[in-house]
Amino acid sequence: MIGRAVQNNKLKVSKLYNLLLHRDKVQYAFVIWCNLSVPKHRFILWQATLRHLLTRDNLLKCQLCLPSVLCPICELHQESHDHLFFQCKFSQLLRSKVAAWLGCAIWPVHLNDWVDWMVGKPKCLQQKLLATGLAAAVYFIWWNRYNCIFNLCSVSVNAVFALLQNCLKARLENLHRFKLKRKDVAFLEKVHFL
Ligand SMILES: [Zn+2]
Repeated sequence: MIGRAVQNNKLKVSKLYNLLLHRDKVQYAFVIWCNLSVPKHRFILWQATLRHLLTRDNLLKCQLCLPSVLCPICELHQESHDHLFFQCKFSQLLRSKVAAWLGCAIWPVHLNDWVDWMVGKPKCLQQKLLATGLAAAVYFIWWNRYNCIFNLCSVSVNAVFALLQNCLKARLENLHRFKLKRKDVAFLEKVHFL
């Protein structure tokens, strides 16, 4: 195995580590770890995809005594990953705004479909922005949940959407040093990035 981790007569520790893990890269890894996304957004998206975030249904499995099992944002249904990111009215509204803005006709409404939808490497700028928008939407939903719990207030969907737009525009500014293709410029003008 060590021999497979050698490249140009040098041992690549990262390659050896990955070989020792005996795990193949999942198909949706390219979307989650898209380099245009904010690193902390990528982490939360990764955890959400694995259903590892500490939602109230997960906390109950740890036998914790909770003041409520309801979703902290809408307080209408038990909180779970599926509810928080797909069924909650707040998430639905934010998701529809982001999807409409970035020209995405189909945005899955279940976690399993979501994972299938993320398969493949984002190739064009629009796909990269969609991956970045997805990660930002998931992060801001999670951020607003904390707001509801610790500050006892929910930020409006419009305010969160404005934060998300500013965040994506700031990330995209890093791309300006590279030459944008004509179709990228046309797309950016269409979604009012430029
Ligand atoms: Zn809810």
